Amino acid sequence: MLTTDELERYDRQIMIEGFGEEGQEKLKRAKVFIAGAGGLGSPVSIYLIAAGVGTVRIVDHDKVELSNLNRQVLHWDEDIGKRKVDSVLAKLKQLNQSVKVQTIEEMITEANVLPLVADFDLIVDAMDNLPTRYVLNKAALERNIPFFHGAVYGFEGRAMTIIPGQTACLRCLYGGVVPGEKFPVVGVTPAVIGCIQATEVIKYIVGIGELLTNRLLIYDGLNLKFTELKVKKDPNCEHCRHLASKE
Ligand SMILES: [Zn+2]
Repeated sequence: MLTTDELERYDRQIMIEGFGEEGQEKLKRAKVFIAGAGGLGSPVSIYLIAAGVGTVRIVDHDKVELSNLNRQVLHWDEDIGKRKVDSVLAKLKQLNQSVKVQTIEEMITEANVLPLVADFDLIVDAMDNLPTRYVLNKAALERNIPFFHGAVYGFEGRAMTIIPGQTACLRCLYGGVVPGEKFPVVGVTPAVIGCIQATEVIKYIVGIGELLTNRLLIYDGLNLKFTELKVKKDPNCEHCRHLASKE
């Protein structure tokens, strides 16, 4: 049940056709795992918490650096040197006190990923490197948890939604190619992509609209173009081939 305050707070989204109080209650019950408290993790967590997702867990192992501040908008000048999880928690608690926000300072690895995502309904990929994305992809497939991919480079970004056993996964998409670590980026790019990921999460939980599955959305900010690439499930995919029969 929604409280009087919640009905007022979420009034404008409850009005949306197909959303309603039922959709809002689904959001309230939902538990979303956000991997990363940086450029993508900032908008993803802000908009999911503003929308009333009941429980959010954010995992990050970094400290705030000056060079993060052009894009990681939950971290401010005063936060330099602090743990990112502490910096985001301080802001997010003020945004919406009715949401449970948990933060964990850990590096996500093969060894800890399963306990970290246990009991969570959705996983958002707000990482900055493909090896960790693959760790999350495998965990999502193994635990049958929908996985929301986003990535940025300069003025370009991409997003795709993965439903285990039904759609192409991240390994099907990238085929094991791992690019370099440090990449250029302007802050508006993760803002656009993070909002697309949050949109997908809200739609999935509420159960409306058409998901960004089996298609990679490519955003080109310099020419302001959105294009789509069809992505097929790879029958030889190292990560998801054992799930192929469920399609
Ligand atoms: Zn796959």
